[in-house]
Amino acid sequence: MKMRFWGVRGSTPTPTLDNYRYGGNTSCVEVRTPGGEILILDCGTGLRMLGKQLLAEFGQRAVQAYVFLSHFHWDHIQGIPFFEPLYNPENSFSFHSFPSHIRDVEEALGDQMSNPYFPVDMTAMRAQRKFHKIAQEVLSFQDVVVKTIPLNHPQGCLGYRIECGGHALVYATDNEPGSAEHDRNVRKLAEGADVFVYDAQYTPLEYVSLKKGWGHSTWREAVNIAQEARVGQLVLFHHDPDHNDGFLDSVLGETQKFFPNSVMAWEGMGIDLASGEHTHPRDPAERRTGSRQPIHVPLRVQGMRADGTPFEEEAVLENLSLGGAYFLLENDPNPESPIEVEFMVSTEMLLGQALRTLKTQLVRSHSVKFHNTTKCGVAVMFR
Ligand SMILES: [Zn+2]
Ligand SMILES: [Zn+2]
Repeated sequence: MKMRFWGVRGSTPTPTLDNYRYGGNTSCVEVRTPGGEILILDCGTGLRMLGKQLLAEFGQRAVQAYVFLSHFHWDHIQGIPFFEPLYNPENSFSFHSFPSHIRDVEEALGDQMSNPYFPVDMTAMRAQRKFHKIAQEVLSFQDVVVKTIPLNHPQGCLGYRIECGGHALVYATDNEPGSAEHDRNVRKLAEGADVFVYDAQYTPLEYVSLKKGWGHSTWREAVNIAQEARVGQLVLFHHDPDHNDGFLDSVLGETQKFFPNSVMAWEGMGIDLASGEHTHPRDPAERRTGSRQPIHVPLRVQGMRADGTPFEEEAVLENLSLGGAYFLLENDPNPESPIEVEFMVSTEMLLGQALRTLKTQLVRSHSVKFHNTTKCGVAVMFR
């Protein structure tokens, strides 16, 4: 089995420069079986580019695919009107999800294209379309077994386990921990999976302070499940719209301390379950270091240590790029806290008056031998 991520963002698309490395499209994952079946997990805005890929690959040949929707929130269905293969009568798609108590699967998908929300309704889609209501069950077709289980999310959600050729992947997004039944469900679904894709929208701090009851999880709960269910690889998914690339890098660093075989889902990532290979994003530091210039000016740096206590320290800037800066500190900053950097020079020369004090986010920190002492080398991205 092979999988490819076409959209990894939660809640709403985020096409901004500081998200470009992990990507801004919403949830969509393609799965291919060795027998050539195509499965599509969720239809967020990432689905549009999957459609273009299928057109390029199939040409005049018919496309047939099984679509599994976790639920009907915008970030999981919004790509459907823009999925070109649905407008070709030669193609066929079978959509699977749970019926909500007010709309069945076909109505729930058709409503987003009703007047006045979209210029054509779903009847303009000439492909053969079938709609299947599913609940907690086991479906078998061709060489594939799909198992589903309810997750804890407002208005409901389904998690999916796909088994084929001796391998298993689990797609469990939009799930909030804390309900005993659903906590059991997700662990049962994930048991022994090669790849476990899980909702890690919030940091633990964001979750406990602001986001309880919003229906999402954290990287720490992802680690708990991955360890308890003994999965092979953890893929953190459904990134928060307010978490930029640098922030996601720091979350991944924390996650890997507890579960080393973790990756942060990025748009375009492919995983081959048979060989265990997956494509890697570009080096997280590459964008910052690509155009860096050595420059030595005094700084005043304020931030938080890992234990939550604040620090303020004078340091020297080592180098600077359009995206960020690198310097050495005595303190080891907490990756989840912002770092404020004040340039102690006449800043018209350097960055323009408005940028004298910059809010930044840690990208990476590592210990550096500096004369006879050890310092913390800190790379930050400007926010
Ligand atoms: Zn979502
Ligand atoms: Zn949702």
